[in-house]
Amino acid sequence: MAELQQRFEFNAPGKYYVDTSCVHCELCHDIAPEHFTKTRLGEGFVHRQPAATSEFLLCDQALRECPVGAIGANGEEAIR
Ligand code: SF4
Repeated sequence: MAELQQRFEFNAPGKYYVDTSCVHCELCHDIAPEHFTKTRLGEGFVHRQPAATSEFLLCDQALRECPVGAIGANGEEAIR
């Protein structure tokens, strides 16, 4: 398991989050723009948690494809 990184405070509460190992590549924004965005400094974060199955799949894809493993999915469950 990768070293635990600190989660960005900007993440919407819920299952998915971005941590401080983010390298600002913007891939997650491209994959799931409804769920991932960036700060003015380029840090990725989750701005809306998924609700529908298709949205969870997109977030899972972003998690898998993040080049540095900065996306986690073991936060609290999304509030529906
Ligand atoms: S894909 Fe990963 S490294 Fe790239 S912006 Fe998103 S969280 Fe950051």
